[in-house]
Amino acid sequence: MRIDDYMATCLLHPTMGYYTTRDPFGQAGDFVTAPEISQMFGEVLGLCLAQYWFLQGAPEKFTLAELGPGRGTLMSDMLRATKSVTGFHDAAQITLIEASPALQAVQREALEPYEVTWASDVSTLPNQPLYLIANEFFDALPIRQFVRSGAGWRERQIGAEADEFTFGLGPEAPQPALSQRYDDDAQDGDLVEDCPSAAPIISEISRRVASFGGGALIIDYGDWRSLGDTLQAVRDHKMSDPLAEPGQSDLTAHVDFEACALAAAPCAYSRLTPQGVFLERLGITPRAQSLAKKLTGDALGQHIAAHRRLTHPEEMGNLFKVLGLYPSHLQPPPGLEP
Ligand code: SAH
Repeated sequence: MRIDDYMATCLLHPTMGYYTTRDPFGQAGDFVTAPEISQMFGEVLGLCLAQYWFLQGAPEKFTLAELGPGRGTLMSDMLRATKSVTGFHDAAQITLIEASPALQAVQREALEPYEVTWASDVSTLPNQPLYLIANEFFDALPIRQFVRSGAGWRERQIGAEADEFTFGLGPEAPQPALSQRYDDDAQDGDLVEDCPSAAPIISEISRRVASFGGGALIIDYGDWRSLGDTLQAVRDHKMSDPLAEPGQSDLTAHVDFEACALAAAPCAYSRLTPQGVFLERLGITPRAQSLAKKLTGDALGQHIAAHRRLTHPEEMGNLFKVLGLYPSHLQPPPGLEP
């Protein structure tokens, strides 16, 4: 079985998939994401998009979309922070793209005060300005892995031996798309990853942003041009074996931001920016100081730790990166550079 088929089944099988059957977030779940760490994350991102909307002439109708909204916390924090931005909420058509019915129900509750619709995928978003956010969405998309072998590639696949799943390599075959990209830097035996569904999603977003205005912020862990095996399973806040108990742990892989950027035309893409730098530029520290004034004791300690966790280079600040997509005649969204 190909790894992308395995990942898709483990994560989104209708009755046994990881996301389809549970709410995996938070201390009681398996992992914690940035919006679940602190409300400040969504607040500064909301203001970033609202300012970018304002800079583009405050169009009176636009799609405010989120890919893979989890518990709906990020969207809820973005909306609270932008409540007083004149005209922003009236103009926004809030649209969520979420594959898990269990999480859709959680999102419905979190966003109860707002009018929200769900779309099946980006290709069904309306033809109008699009302001989009995706935090830890692309890392959940299924990947394929290939090991360089002579003039071709051997695909890493999953097979069964006795009662256990194991990894093995398929026959050597040419992979024209990969050979072009990796001829220079992948040596014999090196493993490269490819996420076949990422580029079509980026293209759909870019076409709308380029034609109708708007912008997109893609935040995830990963780097420019992936090399090596980054498939990982996390369960109960610990690394686990990706092949053990399929459907019971979160499976992700690092995002190859170069592959995303290459699919960005006709949009421009920003410099890949560490999350910590981006959040600092958006003013997370003054926001943290202002919130801190109302806190004491343990709550204050937790708040300071949350700020550090989101921004510090040894925590999420460097591991997570931000890529902006924007109309090529404009400056990138606030906090990013061309
Ligand atoms: N953005 C949230 C959740 C990240 S987890 C946060 O930061 O907390 C990944 C999210 O993407 C989950 O909501 C998951 O159900 C959703 N998801 C995964 N694959 C998807 C797909 N192919 N289409 C739509 N949603 C998907």
